[in-house]
Amino acid sequence: MSRFFSEKFASLTPYTPGEQPKDRKYLKLNTNESPFTPSEETMKAALTELDRLQLYPDPDCSELVKAMAELLGVKPSQVMITNGSDEVLNYAFLAYADEKAPLVMPDITYGFYTSVAEYNRVSYEEIPLKEDFTIDINDYMGIGKTIVIPNPNAPTGIALELSDIEKILASNPDNIVIIDEAYVDFGAESAVALIDRYENLIVSQTFSKSRSLAGARLGVAVADEKIIQDLNTLRYASNTYNINRVSLAVGIAAIKTNSYYMNNCRAIAENREYTAERLGGMGFDVIPSKSNFLLAKSDSISGERLYERLKDEKGVLIRHFNKERIKEYNRITIGTREQMDAFLDAVREILETE
Ligand SMILES: *Cc1c(COP(=O)(O)O)cnc(C)c1O
Repeated sequence: MSRFFSEKFASLTPYTPGEQPKDRKYLKLNTNESPFTPSEETMKAALTELDRLQLYPDPDCSELVKAMAELLGVKPSQVMITNGSDEVLNYAFLAYADEKAPLVMPDITYGFYTSVAEYNRVSYEEIPLKEDFTIDINDYMGIGKTIVIPNPNAPTGIALELSDIEKILASNPDNIVIIDEAYVDFGAESAVALIDRYENLIVSQTFSKSRSLAGARLGVAVADEKIIQDLNTLRYASNTYNINRVSLAVGIAAIKTNSYYMNNCRAIAENREYTAERLGGMGFDVIPSKSNFLLAKSDSISGERLYERLKDEKGVLIRHFNKERIKEYNRITIGTREQMDAFLDAVREILETE
């Protein structure tokens, strides 16, 4: 830290993203990216923008907003496009969490929430998940605070039913409830269906996981049009041209070829069940997941040691969280069938030499 760094950020703990090492080629099952390339049309769309890069992009993202609204069955005025869905979280925390309405979130959840909360200098409270890592919705009834919950939750992969989300919304009518649907396309129910009925709901989605576009940085906020206006006020004040031209073109093409991506999601969901069953057969406790990853704990090797041995001996990267309740677990991103077979073989070989 330099001696010029503002005191107000002296204790800020930045989010630690999953490693992207360059020292060798790894089988990368650690950051929940898609194993599939974008569709042909999506890749071609990127090229069409290159001779226009001297021009600013559309600050309203009108065409992409319209396409997304149509896909989700909402009005364009209920949609905002962001630079990754992390940007939705940043604006939403900034807009709706303060002393009067601090943030609440599960104790085991997406690590980025606490760092953005600190960055925005809003206080937060972590509500423990139950013993089996499910959310007890009673903990959120009438809590009177700004709520953020991923559905499915990360890194557990466990999804809430829409009726439970609706109960949380209905019991907190004067507070914003953010439902982070980064993984919704892998099997959970979307709360977008509730947008017209709950003006306190913000749903965030992303192109990073189910649409093979983590590198393009495209996220979506869906909410009541007044909420979208608030979020746009903050966006125009801080990052007017938040989406570059290439990403805008790529996003539109991705929506046009949505069925390609949804087929990939189905394949990943199948591979998830395949992997869960085989891990179970090798003595793992596998949390039932509705996302593109599994959280699993071996009965014969510690979480940290399995992570290390896979990385060092087999060139397989998975994610280990050094967090008390889940430190014996690892999060495994689901890839192609071939990748999962290679992962399962590597695990089997490691367990044989424990
Ligand atoms: C990956 C992820 C996001 C955000 O991803 P972006 O790439 O910023 O769109 C948001 N929430 C959760 C729970 C995630 O895992």
